[in-house]
Amino acid sequence: MPASLVVQKFGGSSLASADRIRHVAERIGQTRAEGAELVVVVSAMGDTTDDLLSLAGAITADPDPRELDMLLATGEHQSATLVSMALHALGVKAISLTGAQAGITTDGRYGRARIANVEPRRVRAELDRGNVVIVAGFQGQSEAGDGGGEAETTTLGRGGSDTTAVALAAALKADRCQIFTDVRGIYTADPRLVPDARQLRAIGYEEMLELAQLGAQVMQVRAVELGWVNGVEIEVLSSFETAPGTVIREDPLVEQRNKVRGLAHDRNVAKVTLLAVPDRPGVARAVFEPLAEAGINVDMIVQNVGHDEATDLSFTVPRAELRRAEGVLNPVVAELGARGLTTDPGVAKVSIVGAGLHNAPGYAARMFGTLADAGVNIEMISTSEVRITCVIEEARLEAALEALHGAFELARPDPVDAAAAARPA
Ligand code: ASP
Ligand code: MG
Repeated sequence: MPASLVVQKFGGSSLASADRIRHVAERIGQTRAEGAELVVVVSAMGDTTDDLLSLAGAITADPDPRELDMLLATGEHQSATLVSMALHALGVKAISLTGAQAGITTDGRYGRARIANVEPRRVRAELDRGNVVIVAGFQGQSEAGDGGGEAETTTLGRGGSDTTAVALAAALKADRCQIFTDVRGIYTADPRLVPDARQLRAIGYEEMLELAQLGAQVMQVRAVELGWVNGVEIEVLSSFETAPGTVIREDPLVEQRNKVRGLAHDRNVAKVTLLAVPDRPGVARAVFEPLAEAGINVDMIVQNVGHDEATDLSFTVPRAELRRAEGVLNPVVAELGARGLTTDPGVAKVSIVGAGLHNAPGYAARMFGTLADAGVNIEMISTSEVRITCVIEEARLEAALEALHGAFELARPDPVDAAAAARPA
């Protein structure tokens, strides 16, 4: 039987010190001793990426994007070499590679490059030589000639090592893709806020994508997308303990189970309302075009029914962008002859997520009823096929999460988890 091929990714907190790197190396050594071929993708140690960003910020307010990517990529170079050395110290054959050496090519967008192709010839060759291959995550190399330029080092956006791992797992047709992190897996709600939150044993790609987009910080959104498109099963698990994690995969049991799988929340939200804007064609464009040009992400747009030829228009923006949004909108308010602009940074989003929601009437009513009984006022609502999201007062967030967790019986195990637990690893 050919040896199985495993891709493992270790996040920054799992590599934050020399001791932790040694610990990670021991775990890698164990998997290797069981006979698996191993590709290990690493993030930068601890807060290295943030530290490098502030260092650049201390030099100049406007760092050159190419130089910034060259700088940020060094964080992952460090950890890759150190993990490799730690394996050598344990007598395990290993070699570190940069993203470019691992064959990851990207487009040329610095700071948020997208992977164009993975050609893991060198990775394969090193595996054949008996090496554990340590790949620096979060980076690639743009193709020479892309817009006439040279091949350059690029980075994939914050949290991008997850994407490196899933892309390599897809290209190498790995048997497993494991994301080691500082939590045990995916939970029905944030266990720091909801004491009886339960770890899920399995979750569908679509549901995980929503949870990631809605603020669950365990995995990068793009990595989940990439796994979904390529059918890579992804296991999220703790690097600090040996406990079963959560498997993200196509979910065959969608029809059979509790339709709400989990709650997500996001505090990084602010609400903007334009008061009494004229109710005529072109107004929405006048408001949202300048916001888009300023690169401000707008979400959850609600326009009320007009009265007296005017209407209120509300939407949310990331909290950190509220100031900029106000700056962009003040002239627009004047231009349109709207009554004014109000903002509220003290809101939060709470969502119920489940793949079966759209064909199961009654979930919305239950969510709203539960929030009402808990005395939580709903300020805005939006829905998709797999989620319902409410904007509420941030101070009421924990109460809302607890009430919803109880109302949808999320502490109770459901068939998906039982099935996943029964499946051989
Ligand atoms: N080190 C990068 C970051 O902090 C990439 C990663 O951790 O995945 O965003
Ligand atoms: Mg990180």
